[in-house]
Amino acid sequence: MDLLSKYLNNSINFDEILKIYKESYGTKFDFLPSAILLYDLNNYIAEHSEIEKLRRMDYSLYLKTKEWRAKRKIILNIYGHCQLCGNNKEPFYHIHHNNYENLPLEGLTDLIVLCEYCHNQFHRDRETITEYSKMMMSWISEDETVNISRNSSEGRAKYAEWEQ
Ligand SMILES: [Zn+2]
Ligand SMILES: [Zn+2]
Repeated sequence: MDLLSKYLNNSINFDEILKIYKESYGTKFDFLPSAILLYDLNNYIAEHSEIEKLRRMDYSLYLKTKEWRAKRKIILNIYGHCQLCGNNKEPFYHIHHNNYENLPLEGLTDLIVLCEYCHNQFHRDRETITEYSKMMMSWISEDETVNISRNSSEGRAKYAEWEQ
């Protein structure tokens, strides 16, 4: 059984597979190993899972699948805090889908991590969601994966213009 199969089926946990990826891809960029892991996981899901079934199933059921659970941990590790307010003390973060087009092969630009408060705000106003999603998308997609952290200088600049 290969590594991703073991991870998807809970034979190894996220910390264990991340350690292996860090050994392979280094620790120079904090979340590069996680980003590569996400990429590999999506490729693995594309080859081994029933994509159409996952795509068509009820969203609340999809959130319970091993594919989503495996991905969720990687996304939380990459972002590490709320992408709207920077809150890093929330014990439980939400992952919001910017769109559902790529489900179940969501990449980084399809998802954002929010604290509970911001997620509620986010859904309060449809127009606001659309505007924020567009901004998040344009901001993330023009960046390389290693620059998307709010703590990077580019991330901070983007937030500064966005929060005005
Ligand atoms: Zn927040
Ligand atoms: Zn949401």
